Order: sequence, then structure tokens, then C-alpha cells
Amino acid sequence: MATPKSRKSTAKSTTSTPAPRGPRATALRTVTCGELTLADAGREVIMTGWVNRRRDHGQLIFIDLRDRYGVTQVVIDPERTPEGSAVLDTAAEARAEYVLQVRGTVAARLAGTENAAMATGAVEVIATGIGILNPAKTPPFPITDAITADEALRLKYRYLDIRRPAMRARLELRHQVALFMRNFLSERGFIEVETPILTKSSPEGARDYLVPSRVWPGEFYALPQAPQQFKQLLMVAGLDRYFQIARCFRDEDLRGDRQPEFTQLDLEMSFVEEADVMTVIEDLIVGLIQRFTQKKIKQLPLPHITFAEAMERYGIDRPDLRFDLPLQSLGDLALLGEFKVFQDAVKSGGVVKGLRILGRGGATRKELDELTEFARTFGAKGLLTLAINPDGSVKSPITKFMTAEDVQRIVTHMAGQPGDLIVFVADSAKVANDVLWRMRVRMGEELGLIDPNVMALCWVVGFPMFEVIEENGRERYHATHNPFSGVKPGHEALFETDPLQAEARQYDIVCNGYEIGGGSVRIHQAEVQRRVFQLLGLNDAQITEQFGHMLEAFELGAPPHGGLAVGFDRLVMLLADTDNIREVMAFPKNANAQDLLMNAPSPVETEQLDELHVAVQLPKVPEKK
Ligand code: ASP
Repeated sequence: MATPKSRKSTAKSTTSTPAPRGPRATALRTVTCGELTLADAGREVIMTGWVNRRRDHGQLIFIDLRDRYGVTQVVIDPERTPEGSAVLDTAAEARAEYVLQVRGTVAARLAGTENAAMATGAVEVIATGIGILNPAKTPPFPITDAITADEALRLKYRYLDIRRPAMRARLELRHQVALFMRNFLSERGFIEVETPILTKSSPEGARDYLVPSRVWPGEFYALPQAPQQFKQLLMVAGLDRYFQIARCFRDEDLRGDRQPEFTQLDLEMSFVEEADVMTVIEDLIVGLIQRFTQKKIKQLPLPHITFAEAMERYGIDRPDLRFDLPLQSLGDLALLGEFKVFQDAVKSGGVVKGLRILGRGGATRKELDELTEFARTFGAKGLLTLAINPDGSVKSPITKFMTAEDVQRIVTHMAGQPGDLIVFVADSAKVANDVLWRMRVRMGEELGLIDPNVMALCWVVGFPMFEVIEENGRERYHATHNPFSGVKPGHEALFETDPLQAEARQYDIVCNGYEIGGGSVRIHQAEVQRRVFQLLGLNDAQITEQFGHMLEAFELGAPPHGGLAVGFDRLVMLLADTDNIREVMAFPKNANAQDLLMNAPSPVETEQLDELHVAVQLPKVPEKK
């Protein structure tokens, strides 16, 4: 693709008719709107672009012409060029977003009228001809980065939204990141292989998007949730190092930042252990951060923390490590005195966990109520607060139920200082963690503990192979990540005795509280894989039907292998310093999984359904969108 970054080839000559062809010249233009400098003064050029702004002073009109590369000021001034009066009429017609072709001569701007904020601000083009290539209706929102239009309107008119420099810059960044990845991996022997979009599903924990087969009535393809099985099969095929910037599809429950289709950097390597894969990814991600941001990486090499530590200390397996503020379990101290709320939680197998909030000891009743409400929103029955006054005395409902000494032991355990507020949740570990990780992040923000110029990354390791989930009223094992993750050497025996203790060879990479990637060293032996499927509740017939091809492949010379996938959109989002994944996608779905521009999903013709042997049965009560 001819998109060189350098502007060097822009002609330096001062007279040139016809103008020399620059790298982005076409049949309709000789230069773009972003490349003229003082060195071009005197040059005759033809530019194309959109009217960014027009200032009409009657006998003098200025048009800021915009294209992807920048903005150039065009001057229509009969006093400066004989053709000026002829073009004045056309220029007067042009409105915002008209598409123009402008012919003119580059001139230095008059002293004092230069615009340092514009790359082309030292020059202007004195128009000798203007053609309207296409008029435009008044756009539904002005094309400016100071945009106030709501997101739905931006998505409906995404092609206008992308005309804005900030959107365009983010898409360019996305392209550069992909290019960097491709070069980086190619240099290390990886080859990019495209895997099918019409396929059989690979279980990654979400629902599949199904595509009915016309030629096989009643049968369906699934869109891939990830290229997991194919990449493993490529290792069996001996490709040794594979990668793909792959589109994945997951029909998950709607949530603000989830997209039904998204992109992964997916890779797999043969004859590896965990460290081999982690090193490649760590070098790649660190390289990307250094190349595309000014941010400081908090700790290198990246720290490793175990899943258990992450849950204990941060309440979540993707902790934001830009700040400390750890959670702290009370352990046996919860049993001190007569405080039933604490004691009941512990007796029923739960925990009492707290967070020390620095300097919030003076919180008002209203502020405390608001914190309690916050905790309730995320499932807590309540929140116990303990404020430490400046003189060290304690204000808390708990003082009614235990001695001052016991209260002091708790304060010491929590490292409480005069002026602090400590909050506790007494509940199941799940609820306590769920509430407190959010509280921790909220306080990190409110207390200004987050340095926006820092990227805090870590590896989370030591995940269990299985967790217990409830399905149709029955409990069963579920793979914490995916069923292809290998098991820590020596832990296979636990499958027969205590599967929940078996550790997976899984590793996740986390940045600023986002999981940006995850992978594992895989199972490569058919019998181990079969046993895992059995533990996950599949019978032999289901195993053969769903995964027979994998087991067969593992019996035909499968090398030890492992890999990982990085959430490409999310990584670009972090590199672009935004917190909305849609800002780095050209045509994202909205939070209701709709494409507002194309109006998808939408009903189809009955004939189309008939051909696909599909009958539609609408829900009786339409689901709320
Ligand atoms: N396929 C996994 C995922 O999409 C990543 C991996 O294990 O490579 O999360």
C-alpha cells in the first residue's frame, strides 16, 4: 500500500507546471492538504478535500480545505490573482463538507497571519480555480474534535465521525499497531495464517453466532469465538509459530464495552513452556507501549502474581496495579467480641474483608450512606464503616459489640491511621471481592492515586483448571479459561482426587486493570484432553461429536505447544489513551449490539428464510432492548 510516512518526496521546486506527482498524488490532485510548507512557495498545486470552514468577507473568501492528511488554507482573492474574481462565485457557493478540487499557487502567509497550530500554517494556496466535485447537505453534526453529538448519532453517521482528526488518528494508530505486530512476529519466525470464519464453534465461554446452511438443511456453521482449535491444529501440522489478527464473534450478554465481534492478536508456538510464550508477548507489548505512547511502564520485567494473591489482595484477577490500596481479610479477628454480622459470615464459609481508605475518616453520614449504597449495588448486604478520628479514637457501629482493645487489634491489622476510614464487607468471598475491588478502583480514582502517565502491567498465573458453576440447578465443573489449557506437571493425579486443586498452565496479562490477553501451554495428549472433557461433564458420544477431530489429531504426532491471544481492540484503546473500545473501531456496534449505520440486525425476506430452512418464532413478550 502506498502510504509512506515520510514527506521527503514532496517536491521542493518553486515553479512546476504540471506539478510533480507526490506519493499521494492521483489523477485528481497533485498534493494533499497536509503537506505544503514554506519550501513549496510559488509551486502550482491541485488539491482535493472537504470544506472544513469557510470565511466569507465578500471580495475575499478563505476556505480551510481538509483531507485525511491535514488542513490547508485556500484564499480566494481577486487582488492577488487575476483568476480570483471568476472563482469567487464558486467559492461563495461552497458550504461545510462540500467536496472541492482547488487549483492554485502556494504562497507564504502574510507576516503575522501564520498559524503555528496548523502543520501547513506557514502557507496558503491562492486559488486560481475551484471545482465542486460534490455538494453536501448540512451535516447532522459539525466535523470537529470538540464534538458534542451523542454517540448514537456519531455511529449512525460514522463516515462523518471518522472525518474528525481524532477518530482518523486512532484508526491510523490501529493500523500502525497491527503493522508493528506483524513485523515483530514475522521477524521471530511467526507466519500469519487465516482460519475459517464459517466453522464449528470453539468453546470460549460465550454463546455462538450461528449461520444456517442452505445446502445442509437443519445444519449450522458457527462463527468462531476464537481460532483456538485451528491454531492448535496448525501446531500439529508442524507450522511451529502461527499468528493471526483474527476476528472473533461472541454472543455475550450486553455490557457497556463488549462488542459482538472483535479482534484478537492470536498466536501459538510449538515446543514451548510458559516462559517462551510470555517472553514473546511481554517484549511485544512493552515494545508497543514504548513505540506508541509516552507512558512509563511501572515495573519491568513484568511482575507475576498468582490468581490466589490477586483475589486476596485486589479482589479481582485483573488488578489495577497503578496504585496500591490493598484489600485485607480480617481472618480470625472477625470472630472477636459479639459482632454477629462478622461471625455469621465466617461461620457460613464466607469472609470479612476490608479496605482502608486513606484520609476519609471525616466522611459525613451522607457520604457513608452513599458508600453503603454503592456496596449494595454490587451485591453486599451492607457495609460496616470504621472511622478513625484525628485523636485515634474510633467511630463505628462495631464498638458496641467488642472491647476497645479488640477494635484496636482490628485497626492495627488494617494498618489504620488517624484520619482514615476503613470499610468492611462480610459475605461470601465472591460478593466481598466483587464489591471491594470496585470500591478500591473507585477510591484509587477519588483519592487521586492513579498516575495517568503510568502503564502498570502484570502477569497473573496459577489459575485453577476448574471452577464450579451452577447449570440448570445442578453444580458442575467449568474450565476457568478454556478446556484446552494444560495442567501443571504432576497435577493430573488431582483430576481423580480433588480437581478443584489442579492448577492450569494458564497466564493472563493485565494492564491498568484490563485483561489484555491470556493463553496457556496446552494439553497435547489425547487421554489427558479426554479426561478434562469428562470432568467438564461431556459423555463419550459428546466428546467424539464435538472434539473427536482434536483427540484424533493429538494421536497423530502433536507437539507440546502453547499460545495466547491479545484483545487487539482493547490494547489499541489503552495505547490511544481512551476508555471506550468503540473509539478505536471503525464501525462498532452500540451497547445494544446494533449497527446503527447499516441498521443491523434487521428482519429478512421470507424467501431468504425458506431457502435456509429457517422458521422464526418471535418471543411472546418482546424482549426489552
Ligand atoms: N483462545 C483463547 C481466548 O480467546 C486464548 C488462548 O488461550 O490462546 O481467550
